[in-house]
Amino acid sequence: MSRKRKAGNDNGPTMYKHEPRAKARAHNLTVSTASNGQQRVSVSTSTVILQAPPPSPICDPPSIDFDDSRNDFWSENGAIPFNPDNMETMGIKLPPAKRYQNSDAPLVSWLGFRNIQLDERMRYEGRGNKMFDSTCPDCLIKNLGRNEGTYRCEDCYGREMLCAGCCANRHRTLPFHRVKVWKEGYFRPVALRDLGVIVQLGENHAPGTLCLFGLDLNKDFIVLHTNGIHSVRARSCSCTPPGIPPLDLYQQLLRAGLYPATPFDPKTCGTFELMRLFHMLSLQGRVSAYHFYNSLRYNTDNTGTVKLPDRYRAFTLLARKWRHEAMVKRGGRAYDPRPDRVEATAPGELAVLCRACPVPGMNLPDDWQDTPPERAFIYWLSLAKDACFRFKNRLRSSDAKDPTLGPGWAYFVDHGPYLEHCKSYATEEEVIGHLVWAESAAPGSNAGAPTASETCRRARGE
Ligand SMILES: [Zn+2]
Ligand SMILES: [Zn+2]
Ligand SMILES: [Zn+2]
Repeated sequence: MSRKRKAGNDNGPTMYKHEPRAKARAHNLTVSTASNGQQRVSVSTSTVILQAPPPSPICDPPSIDFDDSRNDFWSENGAIPFNPDNMETMGIKLPPAKRYQNSDAPLVSWLGFRNIQLDERMRYEGRGNKMFDSTCPDCLIKNLGRNEGTYRCEDCYGREMLCAGCCANRHRTLPFHRVKVWKEGYFRPVALRDLGVIVQLGENHAPGTLCLFGLDLNKDFIVLHTNGIHSVRARSCSCTPPGIPPLDLYQQLLRAGLYPATPFDPKTCGTFELMRLFHMLSLQGRVSAYHFYNSLRYNTDNTGTVKLPDRYRAFTLLARKWRHEAMVKRGGRAYDPRPDRVEATAPGELAVLCRACPVPGMNLPDDWQDTPPERAFIYWLSLAKDACFRFKNRLRSSDAKDPTLGPGWAYFVDHGPYLEHCKSYATEEEVIGHLVWAESAAPGSNAGAPTASETCRRARGE
């Protein structure tokens, strides 16, 4: 097998035959010590030709040499088990791994491509080959003549230059794309609403059609999407059978995947996609609402020359409501048939159970209570307390203006009963500087008997 490979590759592998690409300068630091003990640092510069290393020699197939001293062991214990981690100790010699410059030092390989990549990025922002012929391709297909295409979408694939009408047609189902128009030698942003794109609400209306009885929403209607802040022309739907009132606007918006900041005459919405993205980023990347909104703002206009509507406060409201509703949704509250299904949530119902905590009947052996005393520690209740929680997140102006959304539903107890409890101990002298470790029996078991154990540690205090 190895002969075949060698015969077919007399000149070495062809995949890695890189031509010399370019030169780069390498700067070297040399530290020398003079006779008086002083250290001197000198800098020298040399030129390095960027090229691939010579092809690696073709390796022979692995030869397997067994250690004679182990033969007795294997003959006594049967066949040799396959264990790739153990090949070295079994005496199997592996060929050295091949080395490639592009894998070992990818930045060095890339240095020679910088100029071309810079040019390509500049070209991508410009018109490319459309600067020689910017005829609208959609008009050509429809036999509408050679109309000049000056509009380009930053989010559609293809970067085609279209006329205003064709650009609007293409974005009936993509109303939150960012479109630019080539004017006076550069691209400038233009709102799709100015091209005539209308977001028609109502499940019975196909994109691009209008409801005869619908009304235009507020002229300052803003939609926050993952790619920026959009001024949108939207219309409600009022075509319902006689005797049935039209659906509330906020419900129409929700059914269109637009999350309104308020149920009453909303002027700001976030797309569901945006809300999911922020929820994920805040959990995984610790991105705050402030930084996320600023990113949206700069993604819409990074020059500061366009006056954008400020919907930051509306966005923080959106984020808080979305998170709360997600918690209620994941708690399965939507399946409760009662009309007040959310308010009927029981204390602690939305908390996610700790999988590591032993719970009788769930992840403990049936005879856990019969454990001998010397092993009873396995089921002791161990509580670790950490006082570094970010309680400032619970600071608010007043409960009347900023009400608790889920009192006692998850990890915090209901504040009202908690304050009543605290009243009983208000005059008690405080013990300072001690951590309290408690060992107690599980409910229903005798004191001193083995108990269910729970160790909950929140080392990060969040
Ligand atoms: Zn056209
Ligand atoms: Zn588009
Ligand atoms: Zn309608």
